[in-house]
Amino acid sequence: MKSSLLIVATALMFGVAACSNSRNQQPAPAASSSGGVSNAVSGPFTDQELQAFTALNPIDTHTHVFRSDPAFNAMLQRLNLRVLDIVLVDDNNPELKDLSVESKAAWQFIHGSGGHAILCTTFDPYKVREPAFTQTSIRGIDREFSQGAIAVKIWKNIGMEIKDAAGNYILPDDPAFEPIYKDISSHGRTLIAHVADPNSMFDPPNPDAPDYSYIQQNPFWYQYGKPHPASKEKILQARDHLLELNPGLRVVGAHLGSMEGDFHQLAQHLDRYPNFAVDLAARMPYLMMQPRADMIAFILKYQDRLIYATDNGFSAKNSLQPSLNEWEESYAHDWRYFATNDTLEYKGRPVQGLALPEPVLRKLYHDNAAHWFPGIVPTGH
Ligand SMILES: [Zn+2]
Repeated sequence: MKSSLLIVATALMFGVAACSNSRNQQPAPAASSSGGVSNAVSGPFTDQELQAFTALNPIDTHTHVFRSDPAFNAMLQRLNLRVLDIVLVDDNNPELKDLSVESKAAWQFIHGSGGHAILCTTFDPYKVREPAFTQTSIRGIDREFSQGAIAVKIWKNIGMEIKDAAGNYILPDDPAFEPIYKDISSHGRTLIAHVADPNSMFDPPNPDAPDYSYIQQNPFWYQYGKPHPASKEKILQARDHLLELNPGLRVVGAHLGSMEGDFHQLAQHLDRYPNFAVDLAARMPYLMMQPRADMIAFILKYQDRLIYATDNGFSAKNSLQPSLNEWEESYAHDWRYFATNDTLEYKGRPVQGLALPEPVLRKLYHDNAAHWFPGIVPTGH
């Protein structure tokens, strides 16, 4: 059990490097072995669990797959899983520097996936200061739409890395991006906004934070101590400004909209912006740390605005079989939390599953994805 959790943590590091924080930041082996929960359920799906999971036609709206493999496709088939495959440009990661190379690998996977995957495209924000940036970006996005892409992602390098000529951080509501947002909206497509990062990336080091090991592995993104970073508050305000300026644009805030530390704040945002929903990718620990009754009440209240997602990744640097195991175990783990009364373990503490009603599970795992990402479910399904 413990070893499987550690395997998940290790193997999902590619997802970390690709995009975000690891979904299951686990304690170091010593801590894990001392704090075990003896009756915690872990491991792959049982037959019965798999039957309930596959019956929902589950969708994961946040993955990064840049590799094709028949065994991987067979895993998707077995889980009856449909994934949104997200590309992004990260100048700090050799694997993600060149959008055309990345897109090609993603499309190759999608075309061979037997209908189990679809693309979320992006544009290269590092080119924002080039005169033709906006038009070039729109042309690229429209080309991907015409090929079947159904969404566009912006990433945290907007707000936390890329600067204007005066040395100020470019924010998500920068006027250079506005025509791009209008273009996405005019095509009836969806914007995924992963902007800012968990609070712990802006705060002094805290070994108890779920994202602590991500900071160790990715010090580049640790904002605390950097000279004059844009504050998290300022970045999220710019995201909110984007929502206000584009009421007709559906925006899905990745990773709980980076409001993982305050579910009250998240609730206020969902109340205020009808064009805003959030995915749960890589933030399950934050849900699991909440009192069970509070989390049930929150999910029931916002059952139309929460979209199941993982941030799982699969690329050339991953070993095949461990990746397959990790993918399946991550879905099984999350499923037990949402759908069952089982006892799970997080950081040596027991966490009881929420046992949500089936209609709510159906929304989390399928209906909300279909609503917020038109085109993610092929017609006729
Ligand atoms: Zn991601």
